[in-house]
Amino acid sequence: MTFAGGGPSGVPVSFRDALFAGLAPDGTLFRPVETPDLSRLFASFGPRTSFVDAAAQTLAALLAPQLSAAEARGLADRAFPFSPVLRPLDGRILLLELFHGPTCAFKDFGARFLAASMEHFLSKENRRITILVATSGDTGSAVAHAFHGMDGIRVVILYPAGRVSLLQEKQLTTLGGNVHALEVEGSFDDCQRMAKEAFRDASLRDRLSLTSANSINIGRLLPQSLYYIWAAARRGAEGTPPSFCVPSGNFGNLTAGVYAWAWGLPVRTFLAATNDNDVVPACLKDGVFRPRPSVATLSNAMDVGNPSNFERLLALFGGDYARMGALLSGDAVSDAETLEEMRSTHEATGIVVDPHTAVGIRAARRFLAKHPERSDAFVVLSTAHPAKFTQTVERAVGKAPGLPEALRRALDLPKRSVRIPPRMAALAEFLEGMA
Ligand SMILES: *Cc1c(COP(=O)(O)O)cnc(C)c1O
Repeated sequence: MTFAGGGPSGVPVSFRDALFAGLAPDGTLFRPVETPDLSRLFASFGPRTSFVDAAAQTLAALLAPQLSAAEARGLADRAFPFSPVLRPLDGRILLLELFHGPTCAFKDFGARFLAASMEHFLSKENRRITILVATSGDTGSAVAHAFHGMDGIRVVILYPAGRVSLLQEKQLTTLGGNVHALEVEGSFDDCQRMAKEAFRDASLRDRLSLTSANSINIGRLLPQSLYYIWAAARRGAEGTPPSFCVPSGNFGNLTAGVYAWAWGLPVRTFLAATNDNDVVPACLKDGVFRPRPSVATLSNAMDVGNPSNFERLLALFGGDYARMGALLSGDAVSDAETLEEMRSTHEATGIVVDPHTAVGIRAARRFLAKHPERSDAFVVLSTAHPAKFTQTVERAVGKAPGLPEALRRALDLPKRSVRIPPRMAALAEFLEGMA
């Protein structure tokens, strides 16, 4: 498989080159050039196929000939020492729990595969790089954990002092080793500006081999298709193909699912569930894409007003809104409905879900109520562990969720960070000191 940007001059590049470049030369997002037919491979997976086996075989098919089957297996083993879990919620809805990785959110899948892939190519090339990320909380911790302990890779994280939760700060600052946390005396925007300035400084960039690990990197997108493939196999070959409901913000997760469909995975419907940032559901109704500034909600990882993956998604349907609308539906869920869904799901099933997952469950319920004739099962992607959103969970169900072991460990460790003023000179000085 090769990758190219969306512009007219998009020259195809290898997986390796797309991985390290991040963005295509024309500033657009990389997307797969070929659409392989993997339907026979997918049909060979059954309810007992493990996630890592399905992942290794799918990656081998996608990334040949650049990666051998053995290399794809090695990457899958290294990236995915954990598995998703498919849990029935009620007769019609299943939860696809994606939060059993080290930082308890689905972003572990993308971040860990990106890290494993970069390490793989760097070790062959005998090269070292420095990953620089600005974070408002969760993305940074998934990236930091993914790269922790990897040879030839240093990670520098910029986060705004006093503006991330205690748990998030502990996840960012307790790793040590090759992960350096910089606590910036400013806002998230300051952190982002400083990172951008560092990337623009050609001499700094080259000397340190500064590299980004953005959510738009193709190395984070591709592995997210793997759990759709595994979940479909888990349900066996009987009955109608499943539908997937995806709590969405920047639409990377949903786009990866639609890639799996394009490669031959039978799927009846994709339902894009958003909070009040409903640019995509609105567009699916009237065919006009109107980005706008985001608004703050309880499901804050989905507070995105201009989802960057939309261009990739639309390209999959040749830019045709009618074709897209035949496979995709959208629905927006308010904060009040989110809290109510968390409460009623807990009451009916005893299961505590986080606010992002609740958005998905509510949208799936509404879809099923509107389409009583449909008998297909709805798989709702459960994107984070409820313990990451303690306050909202307490508000909705009246008690705090139990903390998983991985998060409890981080809370007990001492914070290690370097405080710097919100200025590029201070960041440059730190980076120079490491070099
Ligand atoms: C990032 C995130 C989302 C949104 O995923 P996209 O790929 O940006 O659509 C949903 N839920 C949680 C918990 C997240 O961290």
